[in-house]
Amino acid sequence: MEEAILLLGGNLGNRELALAQAMEKIEAHVGEITSNSSIYESEPWGFEDNNQFLNQAIKVNTQLNPQQLLDQLLEIEQSLGRVRTGKISARTIDLDILFYGNQKITTETLTIPHPRISERLFTLLPLAELEGNDILPALNISAQELINACSDESKIHIWNFKDNL
Ligand code: ADP
Ligand code: MG
Repeated sequence: MEEAILLLGGNLGNRELALAQAMEKIEAHVGEITSNSSIYESEPWGFEDNNQFLNQAIKVNTQLNPQQLLDQLLEIEQSLGRVRTGKISARTIDLDILFYGNQKITTETLTIPHPRISERLFTLLPLAELEGNDILPALNISAQELINACSDESKIHIWNFKDNL
């Protein structure tokens, strides 16, 4: 059994529902979710789009190995209606593996820890909620230190469902 940290995100359709459905499917097919961050709203990173993203980080205990975990997440993305266009673009749901235990993995299909963690506040802010000042697995630095060093200037805020009713 390993503990994985995942980042969920999406900017199309009912974004909050997509996060909730993804969590349900992760519980059913990946393993028990032991904690989750708040939901954050963020601007698209690296491409132009009118739709803002919702992002959330979760911790899950899983018996799946890293490749099985990736395959399962891709299947869940598909079942929630994600259409891949082959480049960075709008999507209903994106499920990324940030960490898998304290393992470092580089294969053709998988890089763990996720290679862009330190560049993107939409990853670092929810991650810091889960890990704070703890040294991150396999990186030897804390999420808070990475935030202090990060030059990403995107606007991000905690998303409050009630504000949107
Ligand atoms: P992105 O998440 O970068 O916007 P995609 O979700 O389309 O892009 O992912 C493209 C591919 O990235 C996946 O099919 C997978 O093989 C690969 N990949 C490499 N490392 C990871 C990781 N840590 N988590 C998720 N996908 C990864
Ligand atoms: Mg992805």
